[in-house]
Amino acid sequence: MFNVEDIRKDFPILARKVNGKPLIYLDNAATSQTPQQVIDAIVDYYANSNANIHRGVHKLSQEATDLYEAARKKIQTHFNAQHAHEIIFTSGTTHGINLIANGFSSLLKQGDEIIVSALEHHSNIVPWQMLCERTGATFKVIPMNAEGELVRSAFDALLSENTKLVFVNHISNALGTINPISYFIEKAHAVGAAVLIDGAQSAPHIKPDVQALDVDFYVTSAHKICGPTGVGMLYGKEEWLNKLPPYQGGGEMIAEVTFEKTTYADLPHKFEAGTPNICGGIAFGAALDYMNAIGFDTIAAYENELLNYATTLLLQIEGLKIYGTSSQKTSVISFNLEGIHPYDVGTILDKLGIAVRTGHHCAQPIMDYFKIPGTVRASFAFYNTKAEVDALVEGIKKAKMMLS
Ligand SMILES: *Cc1c(COP(=O)(O)O)cnc(C)c1O
Repeated sequence: MFNVEDIRKDFPILARKVNGKPLIYLDNAATSQTPQQVIDAIVDYYANSNANIHRGVHKLSQEATDLYEAARKKIQTHFNAQHAHEIIFTSGTTHGINLIANGFSSLLKQGDEIIVSALEHHSNIVPWQMLCERTGATFKVIPMNAEGELVRSAFDALLSENTKLVFVNHISNALGTINPISYFIEKAHAVGAAVLIDGAQSAPHIKPDVQALDVDFYVTSAHKICGPTGVGMLYGKEEWLNKLPPYQGGGEMIAEVTFEKTTYADLPHKFEAGTPNICGGIAFGAALDYMNAIGFDTIAAYENELLNYATTLLLQIEGLKIYGTSSQKTSVISFNLEGIHPYDVGTILDKLGIAVRTGHHCAQPIMDYFKIPGTVRASFAFYNTKAEVDALVEGIKKAKMMLS
């Protein structure tokens, strides 16, 4: 049985005060908080197993290697990849996307087309624009509607035999919309295009099955799934990863080096140059263990309850408008109070100990669509409570009174 009060005891930070008030952390779409189990894994690694991996014959190095590779296995199992070597450790979603964008430099040419969605985070826009500049390929955008949903028929119309790559986020960080990625993957494959899914927002809420989705690339960051910052993963189908050139050169990624010619290591090491974030990778595995012990169905059901509860209460505040009203969304609420700048609302909420995000959420094209400078975004995790939602609502009412 899911008991949120028990869950909260796992997160030491939730007991602290901010500005003299109990912390109410509603910025989970930016980064999640870290349970003691993951903190313990980090401390334990540095206290007992710290060594460089893959190279040493000594006991400690072998132990660290075993822990790191066991974490890769956990990630493989969690996302249901066919092979462990299809999981590449990265520093996060941004790194994973850049790795793929760089790899496609040698595969694209003038006349090729790539398709991005209007709902993307800047990290799933800018690397592709840079790729287009390098290769002469063109960049097309799947438009969105007023609910914050991508328009399927418009996507169909963009597809052609020139389409080489499609990249869409599974869930929008700015609006919470869950995109119909199976539809996009199927249609893109029908014209021979590869698909990259930005899973930074979905991995915390949904357990994706990369084989069932038949997705070519899937990227995510550990810090949004109760893991540490600076580590993430890229899943790529084996045949794609074999086709792509290495991203960075250095140690770990080579088979043999001479000044005449260097040959590259096999997957996954070909894409893992240099000493990785060993502790981070291990802690990423611990975070997945933690989340799976609670269960993603349980997490999703509870977060959905919070979303519905918060939406109903917020809509009762006069002059409050919610952006992103798809029936398919996760526990993200982006809103504005009429005539009031989001930054001012965020500042007053902070005084009350309530952490929300304000601004464009690294998704300026979405803000341009709605013709607003930004929003206030409250994003809920499974450790948030209805009492915290109540406090948010009271805080917004107070902000409205003070600012209007
Ligand atoms: C957070 C986020 C990113 C970027 O993740 P990093 O960990 O900063 O690399 C990309 N896409 C989406 C949808 C995100 O929410």
